Amino acid sequence: MVAEQLRPHGVTDERVLQAMASVPREEFLALRMRPHAYEDRALAIECGQTISQPLVVALMVQAAAPQPEDVALEVGTGSGYAAAVLSRLCRRVVTVEREPALAEHAAATLRRLGYDNVEVAVGDGSLGWSAGAPYAVILVAAAARGVPQPLLDQLAEGGRMVIPVAVSPEEPQDLRLYTRQGAEVTYRSLFPVLFVPLRPG
Ligand code: SAH
Repeated sequence: MVAEQLRPHGVTDERVLQAMASVPREEFLALRMRPHAYEDRALAIECGQTISQPLVVALMVQAAAPQPEDVALEVGTGSGYAAAVLSRLCRRVVTVEREPALAEHAAATLRRLGYDNVEVAVGDGSLGWSAGAPYAVILVAAAARGVPQPLLDQLAEGGRMVIPVAVSPEEPQDLRLYTRQGAEVTYRSLFPVLFVPLRPG
């Protein structure tokens, strides 16, 4: 995966490559999906959701540049895979999932594999998770129409947020990197993506 899917496609940060190499993607999949674990694509998980394509996870993490002392927030736990990758690169990860069944399953997987600096919370991630704020890194794994204000509010000084933004129903989503400097938040577009929608409630 590292040699064929990640390195040749723009993942250059050695810490990110090492984290990607260390997390067993198959462990986050149902048994029948495991033979596909190292295919370069998103795969189905429970509740009609998906585990993201490894390249997309790696590029999102690389863009957010997590540092060893950072606390990170992930919105959309899904299988827990991206949270596990992120947990190798920062001090603590809080990940929020709105489907209780997915959250429970992901939490069990993360516990079983020993990712003990990840906390899985059930709730509407578009509200962020104020108890752990502010966050140096925020990764959003579902596409919103605009950027939810609570997520911007919970971004620390110098913080980086990577989020897919649905610009129009006909077009792919725009993956953006938002950065905060003081009161000012600016963004740049990374690349087009296709994520499941961020659903309210
Ligand atoms: N990061 C995941 C992939 C997530 S798919 C992985 O590595 O497996 C997107 C997830 O976002 C789905 O599980 C979906 O249930 C969840 N989701 C959608 N809307 C949400 C919301 N408002 N709050 C929290 N999670 C949400």
